Order: sequence, then structure tokens, then C-alpha cells
Amino acid sequence: MVSALKNCDVVISGGGVPGLCLAALLADIGLDIVVLDPHLPTRIKDIRPDGRTAALMAGSVNILRAAGAWELCEPHGSALNTLRIIESASARADFRADDIGLPYFGINMQNNLQRAALYEVILKKKNITFLCPAMLKDFTTDDVGVSVTINENGKEQILRTRLLVGADGRNSAVRAQAGIEVRDHDYGQMAITCIINHSKPHDNISTEFHRPGGPFTIVPLPGNQSSIVWVEYTADADAFLKLRRDDFERALQDRTENLVGRIEMVTPPEAWPLKSLHAKSLIAPRLALIAEAAHVLHPLGAQGLNLSLRDAATLAEEIADAARSGLDIGSHATLHRYEFRRRADIQTRLMGTDGLNRMVSNNIGLLRTLRSIGLKTIDAIEPLRRFAMNEGVVPGYDDSRLSRGENL
Ligand SMILES: Cc1cc2nc3c(=O)[nH]c(=O)nc-3n(C[C@H](O)[C@H](O)[C@H](O)COP(=O)(O)OP(=O)(O)OC[C@H]3O[C@@H](n4cnc5c(N)ncnc54)[C@H](O)[C@@H]3O)c2cc1C
Repeated sequence: MVSALKNCDVVISGGGVPGLCLAALLADIGLDIVVLDPHLPTRIKDIRPDGRTAALMAGSVNILRAAGAWELCEPHGSALNTLRIIESASARADFRADDIGLPYFGINMQNNLQRAALYEVILKKKNITFLCPAMLKDFTTDDVGVSVTINENGKEQILRTRLLVGADGRNSAVRAQAGIEVRDHDYGQMAITCIINHSKPHDNISTEFHRPGGPFTIVPLPGNQSSIVWVEYTADADAFLKLRRDDFERALQDRTENLVGRIEMVTPPEAWPLKSLHAKSLIAPRLALIAEAAHVLHPLGAQGLNLSLRDAATLAEEIADAARSGLDIGSHATLHRYEFRRRADIQTRLMGTDGLNRMVSNNIGLLRTLRSIGLKTIDAIEPLRRFAMNEGVVPGYDDSRLSRGENL
């Protein structure tokens, strides 16, 4: 039995951080939003240490602030003031945020905390309906709207909306059902993540060791705590993941080279297979893709969620501008502007992280020598250091006013 549920302005399939952020932004301009997700976010009071963290750059902080979630996130984040890259005992470079006039490169915190903070925000908005456990079943589009059939808790319902947004992650059902093709590439690598306590302070330095299987990174969290992102070829990662806890901890201790003293694992290791993916289009009639439904990046460079939040911000801006002008928020013109504004940012970040990974994750003698020389050169020449830092943290193709701290 299928029951008609309600009419709304936007259905967002996927209540991860970018999906919830978009919902919170759009609710503030008075639109009626429905969010679907199979998994309930944790309430902020119930948050426990979780293996995956993300470093949020200043633009992302501004976007989360505009969505009303930053005040809840801030106490749980740690600023990354220095990025230290260690190629070998003799080749290393420190990049300091204040050298390019920034207070920090990013603020690192647990992903589930950002999601919980946004969930607290949307629970207070009367014009957001969060359906969970709920998933999209199918949809049909006509000239004026989309009829979305969903399965909520075993019951089928139909939502009638002006715009459907796919924020449902890398295996996006919205993308698949819209027939949007992807280009993807399996890196044959896995990221192992966990949270550690350590005996020495991290001094707000994020340290990245370059190793043949991929980078090994220690990323500061509040107090004497850090998150680990350890990239290895898949077969090697599988072998490490099979180790007993003590042996795994010893392997971690070895890889941290005692930089943060004695370590102790707080969360068990989690594994993330690494791939890149790029949807050939971000839009279809009355449909837009954001975040990993549209692009998946290698975690090197900490760009994925930052890019995703810029998608959410840009789409919110285009929808807000259309709504304020009395135009159709799901029209081709509105969606085309969203896609046009996001194209260059997404392409450059995909190509940049991909190239960086190919350069870093190998043990070819010539490339290692070039890396060492490159790092020493960058470290020694101040304008080059500034250029490298600016390229990494100030996205040249981001034109979102929310990222700049302006209003929606
Ligand atoms: C090891 C690692 C480290 C990273 N570090 C960083 C970093 O430091 N900085 C950074 O910017 N990025 C980082 N990233 C990237 C970042 O984690 C992702 O870009 C981000 O989580 C993507 O968000 P998303 O909402 O698209 O996907 P997800 O977080 O996967 O969320 C998708 C949501 O959709 C829901 N969903 C799934 N299927 C359906 C369905 N059929 N219907 C409805 N809902 C559905 C899921 O339940 C989930 O809530 C890292 C990634 C990895 C793997």
C-alpha cells in the first residue's frame, strides 16, 4: 500500500554532513525540506570517539556557522597550525599557517560530531522533516516536479517535490537511478583510521610521513589526542588489519617515530577503500548531486568534505537566489548555474589529489629523489612555500559567498 505523504520544496536523499548542512541552510529561507537517511545520527550528548575525522578549512567553518552548527562543533575541534611533511630523515618541511596570514590551515574533528551538531540544528527547524530509516525507491520527473517513492521503515510513501538532491554518498542511488555515468579509478590502496592518545603534546602540528604505500598522517585533536590516517596498498593494509591489538599498536608506534611519545589506541582501526570518482554531470532534470554522490577524492590533502560543503553552499545560494526572485528552484537554469559554478573547483581538486597521490605513494628511486629535492627547495624558498600553501588551502575556484562568511 502506497500512501501520499506530503508536498515539499526539496527532498534531500542522504543526511550525512553535506546533506544536513544543505537542509539547514534551505530551511532558513523558509523552504519545506524532507531528508531521508537509513542511519540515525547520534545525538551530541551521546558522541563517542569515532575513527574518521575531517580537517575543515576556514570556508567550511563559515558554511557550518551559516547553517547554525559551528558553535556546537567548535569545542571539539583542534586547530592545525603547522603542516609537517617528512620525506626522509634529511628531507622535511614545515608549513606554518601564519606565514600566509591564516589563523590555521584547518580544524580537525570527528565526522560524527559534525553530523550530530547539524542534526541538533535540524531538529529545531519546523520546516525540516527527517525520515529515518528511509531510502529512496524510485522517482519520476515531469515539467513541474518530481514524485519520489520512498521506503520509510518498511512502508512505501510518495513525496511530491520541486527538486531532488542526491547527497547519498559514493554509491548514490539517486545518481544511479538518474542514469548519470561516472568515471572512477580504484587506487588499490586503503586508508586505516583510528584515534590515539599520546604522551607528548602535538603542538597543533599535523605530520605527514611519505611512505611507499601512501602517506601516514597524524592529525591533532583536542588535548593529547590525534587521529591517524594511514594509507597502504590494499594487501598490506589487510595484513595490518588482521594483527592483534597489541601488535597493531606497536606497528603504529613504529610509524609515528615517537614524535608524539608513547601512544595508546582509543578506537579500533577502521578501513576505507580508496577510489576516485567523478559524476559526468552534477545535474539532471529537477535533480542535483552534491558531495560524494558527485565526486570522491583520495583523502590526501583533506579536500573531500571541504569540497562537499562548498557544493552544499553553492546549491543553497542558487536555490535562494531563484526563490527570492520568484523563479523555479528546480528549473534547468537554476541547476545549470550550480553545475557551472562547481565544475572548476571539483576538477582541480580531483586532479590535484590524484596527482599528489601518484607522486607520493611510490618507491621509485628517481621520484623519491625528486620529492626530496622538491621539498627542500620549497622549504628553502619563501615565495614558493607561500604559493604551495595558498594552493592547498585557498580554493581558487570557490566563489561561494557563504564560504567567505557572507549571508545566504
Ligand atoms: C580516511 C578518510 C579521511 C578523510 N579526511 C578528510 C579530511 O580531513 N577533510 C575532508 O575535507 N575530507 C576528508 N575525507 C572525505 C570526507 O569524509 C567525505 O568527503 C565526506 O564524508 C562525504 O560526505 P557524504 O555525505 O557525501 O558521504 P557520507 O559521509 O558517506 O554520507 C552519505 C549519507 O547518505 C546516507 N545514504 C547512503 N545510502 C543512502 C540511500 N540509498 N538513501 C538515502 N541515504 C543514503 C548515508 O547513511 C550517509 O548518512 C576523508 C575521507 C576518508 C575516507
